[in-house]
Amino acid sequence: MLVNIAIDGPSGAGKSSLARAAASELGLIYVDTGAIYRTVGLASRRAGLPLGAHDEVVALLPELNIEMAYDAEGKQRMYLNGEDVSDAIREPEISMYASDVSAFPEVRAFLMQMQRDMAARGGVIMDGRDIGTVVLPDAPLKVFLTASERARAERRCLELRQKGSDCTVEEVLRDMRIRDENDSGRAVAPLKMADDAVLLDTSELDFEQSLAALKQLIKEKFGL
Ligand code: C5P
Repeated sequence: MLVNIAIDGPSGAGKSSLARAAASELGLIYVDTGAIYRTVGLASRRAGLPLGAHDEVVALLPELNIEMAYDAEGKQRMYLNGEDVSDAIREPEISMYASDVSAFPEVRAFLMQMQRDMAARGGVIMDGRDIGTVVLPDAPLKVFLTASERARAERRCLELRQKGSDCTVEEVLRDMRIRDENDSGRAVAPLKMADDAVLLDTSELDFEQSLAALKQLIKEKFGL
């Protein structure tokens, strides 16, 4: 059985920090698929396209060479036509562009193989919105990670503030709602829990407790 773990859930549920920590403790590779969509979102933004520019974004795809690599510390880096855009894709406004372009079926198809290739030999914890339902439907362990809207907005706001932003929880909540509605309501690969996923609600758990719960699920499934 390939050790592949799919983690899906809404924004701010703590998917990336938990998956990254579990991967580093257990010697697995963490794959952040949101970063790949963010890279397309950044390309669209840089091309000066407005949100919703389906035809223009599709026309842009053949010009995009998107690569993912791991640096000496094991951190995932994203490259857009050879340029390291790992920091640029984290700008708050890119979140909305990522969510926007990710609703286009052509964008999802364009990025699919890259994600599957990463998991082909096993040993990955991959997080996103459709990993358990579409990208890795055969993953032996699927976790749907969620938390209340408020808890997610508070965590995301804290994270942004640590990076120097002066956001408020209300602003983050508003953006998060729009993004969650986009992600859950789109026709292709919407955010939804796979039938065989385990639900992990971290509203009442702190980071260490959430990590322990995730590691317990991994231990039960793979003995790691
Ligand atoms: O995970 P993150 O918030 O960085 O993802 C940015 C956006 O990329 C999400 O809001 C979602 O629209 C999109 N995404 C997706 N499918 C994935 C991962 C991310 O549609 N597997």
